[in-house]
Amino acid sequence: MIALSRRPIFTESRLQTAYISHPLCLKHDMGAHHPECPARIYAIEDQLIASGLFDYLQHHQASEVTREQLLRVHTAAHLDHVAATAPQQGIAHIDGDTAMNPYTQPAALRAAGAAVLAVDLVMAGRVENAFCSIRPPGHHAERGRAMGFCIFNNVAVGAAHALEHHGLKRVAIADFDVHHGNGTEDIFRDEPRVMLCSTFQHPFYPNCGADSGNEHIINVPLPAGTGSSEFRAAVTERWLPALERFQPEMLFISAGFDAHRDDDMAMFKLGESDYAWVTTELKLIAEKYAQRRIVSVLEGGYELHALGRSVTAHIKVLSGL
Ligand SMILES: [Zn+2]
Repeated sequence: MIALSRRPIFTESRLQTAYISHPLCLKHDMGAHHPECPARIYAIEDQLIASGLFDYLQHHQASEVTREQLLRVHTAAHLDHVAATAPQQGIAHIDGDTAMNPYTQPAALRAAGAAVLAVDLVMAGRVENAFCSIRPPGHHAERGRAMGFCIFNNVAVGAAHALEHHGLKRVAIADFDVHHGNGTEDIFRDEPRVMLCSTFQHPFYPNCGADSGNEHIINVPLPAGTGSSEFRAAVTERWLPALERFQPEMLFISAGFDAHRDDDMAMFKLGESDYAWVTTELKLIAEKYAQRRIVSVLEGGYELHALGRSVTAHIKVLSGL
């Protein structure tokens, strides 16, 4: 309550961006030196505070996703495997580079729940858009397996909720993480109500996406060394015409920031201005077709300073502040 009382007093209608997180997202920990670490969330909030944006966002704690909501995009066997792997203490690996501690499953339920809450807030008109500052990330999680630091596919859970609960007919997911969102493609490959637009380094982990895609899966593999002009050309020439054709009623963003030039997870050379630019372009699509509705969900981004600055640039555009 003390923290709330220090926030500027505005009527809710002036708050256009929700910031959704949960304390459990800070307790999921895959061990010392793992790049997908709790400090990522602190780095984001530190830069949002330093920029003055933090107090102007509408803050929410993520609710827990339900099994029914997860089953829209995952198999029952996957949910049961996650529950069976969750350790009482210590760390258990569920994939070569993905581990669980006792807080991982509760955090993953909140991470997916954040996407559901974001959809509900945006659909109710309480905010125009929302950023889910959550971990574990999601876009590598396939229908039937966890992988690549991801347990549940948060953005896919949100998209399915928009379709099945809110009755939307078309939603689009824009994924600018440096890695291909193989999980999101796996889940929606045969679902024409969902368009996935993705740019990613190729060849590179998870080594797929370059030779797949269809009318509603727009994969744009790009070589190591891709910088601002190549990225912007890919978005302008491939994503935007597809989104114009598709006319989504809600726009999701798989917001990974590991394509930043300072992030040594991969070999792209994007900067804060590129994240601001692509967010602006997506916001224009949302204004044109989707009643401004945008739900953005954190994916990768491992160089803490670059991550904090890039998310701040992204939210600055989303919020219009
Ligand atoms: Zn990534």
